[in-house]
Amino acid sequence: MAGLPPGDEGAKQSSALPDEAEARAALVLTLRQRGVGARDVLTAIERVPRRLFLPARHHGLAYDDITLPIECGQTLSAPSMVAFTVQALDIAPDHSVLEIGTGSGYQSAVMGHLAERVETVDRFSTLTDLANRRFAALKLDNISATQADGFDGLKQKGPFDRIVVTAALTSVPDKWVQQLKPGGVLVAPIGQARQPQSLIRFTKSESVMTADTLMQVRTVMLQPGIAMKL
Ligand code: SAH
Repeated sequence: MAGLPPGDEGAKQSSALPDEAEARAALVLTLRQRGVGARDVLTAIERVPRRLFLPARHHGLAYDDITLPIECGQTLSAPSMVAFTVQALDIAPDHSVLEIGTGSGYQSAVMGHLAERVETVDRFSTLTDLANRRFAALKLDNISATQADGFDGLKQKGPFDRIVVTAALTSVPDKWVQQLKPGGVLVAPIGQARQPQSLIRFTKSESVMTADTLMQVRTVMLQPGIAMKL
């Protein structure tokens, strides 16, 4: 158990228990009822033990469709938000994906079942360290978390087929557009703090980015710079 974060001990063995499998199957049913139709996304969600991405005190709520608190004062998005976002990305098995805002690493783990490679960045090293330990415990060796300022993207690992942002911002930085392959897709919540934001899917064609608004969401804003503490 040396590789598991504090509070996660014992969670790995019990993730195979029937009630855990049932809870995950029930969550998938809820997501289908809420309009998530992509089978590959639902299968990926069924495969990821969301409980392992939460502090022990929240394990009992792991398969409810709610946002939950995690380390560093951050949150793990509700499964429906993860599902709609990942569905909008339309990830293919040969894709490389950049995620900005690792948080717990849960969404990265879901995408790790769909893509060839997932790079994820967060401004807190505590979160990227915990996430990497979770990926290792789950043998998800195609995912890597790095502490970095997501506003810069991750040029050394790009270009990417898909870029996804898990916190809101007012406009898309040029660096992200440059790190996206031609034909690539970027999904981000765009708007202001403490107001509903638009989840927008951008597609990079020859010389322009086209944009579709998918739904209204409400999430925290991206913060500039890496965190000096934690
Ligand atoms: N989908 C995640 C939840 C992410 S919450 C999950 O599955 O758990 C948003 C995350 O964005 C937080 O962890 C926060 O630390 C991170 N974040 C905020 N500003 C950032 C920045 N400039 N660069 C990288 N990460 C950032």
